[in-house]
Amino acid sequence: MPGTNLTREEAQTRAALLSVESYIVDLDIAPRTDAVETTFASTTTIRFACTDPGATTFADLVGATVHSITLNGRSLEPATAYADSRITLEGLAADNELVVVADCAYSNTGEGLHRFVDPVDDRVYLYSQFEVPDARRVFTTFEQPDLKSVFTFNVTAPSHWVVVSNAPTPDPVDLGNGNSVWNFPETKKMSTYITAIVAGEYHGEFDTYVGKFGEIPLGHYCRQSIKEHMDTAELVKLTKQSFEFFEEQFDYPYPFGKYDQLYVPEYNMGAMENAGCVTLRDEYLPRSRQPRSFFEFRTSVITHEMAHMWFGDLVTMKWWDDLWLNESFAEWACYWCEANATDFDDAWTGFANARKQTGYRADQLPSTHPIAADNVDLHAVEVNFDMITYAKGASVLKQLVAWVGLDPFLAGLRQYFKDFAFGNPEFSDLLAALEKSSGRELQSWAQEWLQTAGVNTLTPSFELDAEGNYSAFAVRQSAHADWPTLRRHRLGIGMYDEVDGRLVRRDYVEVDVEGESTDVKELIGAAQPDLLLLNDEDHAYAKIRLDERSLTTAIDGLSKLDDSLARALVWGSAWDMTRDGEMRTRDWLDLVLANIGSETDAWGVTRIPASTALAVEFYSDPAGRAEQKARWESGLRELLLAAEAGSDHQLTFARSWAGAAHSDAAVDEVAGLLDGSFVVEGLAVDQDLRWALITVLAKVGRFGEAEIAAELERDKTISGKEKAAAARVSRPDADAKAAGWAAIMDPETPNETSREMVFSIFRFGQEEVLAPYLEKYLEAAEVGIDVLGFHKGSVVLEYGFPKALGTAATVERLDAWLTETKAPKGAVRYVNEARAEIVRALAARACDAS
Ligand SMILES: [Zn+2]
Repeated sequence: MPGTNLTREEAQTRAALLSVESYIVDLDIAPRTDAVETTFASTTTIRFACTDPGATTFADLVGATVHSITLNGRSLEPATAYADSRITLEGLAADNELVVVADCAYSNTGEGLHRFVDPVDDRVYLYSQFEVPDARRVFTTFEQPDLKSVFTFNVTAPSHWVVVSNAPTPDPVDLGNGNSVWNFPETKKMSTYITAIVAGEYHGEFDTYVGKFGEIPLGHYCRQSIKEHMDTAELVKLTKQSFEFFEEQFDYPYPFGKYDQLYVPEYNMGAMENAGCVTLRDEYLPRSRQPRSFFEFRTSVITHEMAHMWFGDLVTMKWWDDLWLNESFAEWACYWCEANATDFDDAWTGFANARKQTGYRADQLPSTHPIAADNVDLHAVEVNFDMITYAKGASVLKQLVAWVGLDPFLAGLRQYFKDFAFGNPEFSDLLAALEKSSGRELQSWAQEWLQTAGVNTLTPSFELDAEGNYSAFAVRQSAHADWPTLRRHRLGIGMYDEVDGRLVRRDYVEVDVEGESTDVKELIGAAQPDLLLLNDEDHAYAKIRLDERSLTTAIDGLSKLDDSLARALVWGSAWDMTRDGEMRTRDWLDLVLANIGSETDAWGVTRIPASTALAVEFYSDPAGRAEQKARWESGLRELLLAAEAGSDHQLTFARSWAGAAHSDAAVDEVAGLLDGSFVVEGLAVDQDLRWALITVLAKVGRFGEAEIAAELERDKTISGKEKAAAARVSRPDADAKAAGWAAIMDPETPNETSREMVFSIFRFGQEEVLAPYLEKYLEAAEVGIDVLGFHKGSVVLEYGFPKALGTAATVERLDAWLTETKAPKGAVRYVNEARAEIVRALAARACDAS
């Protein structure tokens, strides 16, 4: 789409020329007479100053039918002035008024103004999603973060609807035709991408936070059909805990008056930090039993978005170059808040077991990039908005806090909020504030951590004397040849011995590691421990290796280690070694089967079985795979039956066991769990678990369309429709795959339905029926993003590669494709990633065979 790709240079030029005084946005989202609601009326009035009268610039508007454009009372011809998603504005005055009257389109991709009709009751729900550049799909904008302004929204909608935006919701004025108009008060000064409109027959519940700076009205909203699942008391508690924490720590009053959190359908991400009007995916209001990790993650999301109210919304990046900082900070702050202000006081263990792992993974893909990416234009932003931005960035900020100390870090931060409130500073401004408050030079730190890509590996290297004491000890550092930077790390080293059946920490030292080898004199003369743990306490962002004795200790009895964070580091290290082809998959399986039953960290319990399922299917030696699959299936069955009735372990093992079920006996039992003939005491077979079981039975060919349709009769919700779609495409037959793939590639399929199908369609063990989909995937890589839009297209390419076809021959085919393709960079990236994952699997398989 030409014209939609704004460059950094264009934005700089426009920012130098303009300052925006105000937006008035009139939206008419009342039903129109056409049978299918596709468009809405959007009138924008922008007042802005220009430093160079006579100059030319442009405004942004995407996919609109423009009826009129008036600049300073002068009418411009839409047919010529509006082209390529831009409105050309010539002959600017010192003070200008632009009025654009247009019709804009609703979306089903979760971008712009998304429109959803609930299949349960036909009620209509709309919400906007504007980050990165999509406010311009709903009204006319200068779409860049540093042209901040105040906004006045006037929204016409059916009188019985709820309408929520950044400013407090006013009393609507009845228009007498079934519709009303909501004239919102003017907002605080903000960027276009954090403005928002949410409207429809939403259910709302209200409370008030009373804090050190005064009162903040709180609203929680969701669809009518799921209101019984909104655990408002818990959500309010978390919200109040987080406000109290952040207002205290940031020493700056919450800047946007009221705070609404709206749980909305068919949402692409976790949530979005619209100022005072946060939107979250409504799967976070679960209708079925969920484990603690689910609620721990939801809490991270709630605190993440709230942290953005200060870092992101009050103080905003100038351009998307600092998107990493925006997200890394919110990520770090959310775990920090969660651990200190909520019941999830072990949030940093969860971070180590789950989120941080996604950063390590992303950093070892060919698509890795420096945290501070060079985002020359919006296309580059799209390519770089990933787990480097979030998970690695947060890990590195955590390391920075350890480097300068929490108190100096906070002192710098508080000054930064005061100095740049409602402004657009750059990273260098934050660094200067932190250097001042900490007295440490940080430029070189920023250079090695933010401007370079890749993760280092830290390995213990030692010699023992005749008594078994360390006579030499060093930490060796290495890097991947493509990303050779060695870095400075603040590193904890723990020594654990087995005492009375427990692994007890005998000693802990903290050292600064630098260069290829760092001697650790503190350990000379110490007896070699049963378990030597590098990065104990998890300050560093690095892969760590266990020596032979430590690995044996871990496989034998990781559960003897009482500290959940130390266990998370061992799990992480062993998983890394398995992925790197340095530990056999069968040994990983031993470790998991022996220790997962007593793991206490919620994220550990959820994530480790998921990793193991991948290892068994993808990293195991094909010659021994059947045996490992059988061990995994029967091991999970034992874990399931041994788990405490009603526990999270029981629920997680039930899901994992069903997923692993492939023998006739196990499949019979899965069917039995569904029809009630096989009962696991304390395990509620609720609606979500029913769908999980049905999908397993569909995947192995036991269930077909009749059973899926019958379940959909029982569950006519949007979740039911999505789960049914996923079950259908999991079936091992060519027609099911063909119909599924056609639906995935159909722009009419709503985003969340498509996503569920993408996750379900390509299954291990279905290689024969999947054979044609390597080529179909590559065809999708050529056109997917153009056909489906950025978000839906990216989901297909990132998660829709048929991994089951991961062989050396497939690597060859991908290599050939990669040399000749003209597909967009954003698509080639995912093909490269799929290739790298297969290469990794081939190495792991060879190790497993050894
Ligand atoms: Zn964020």
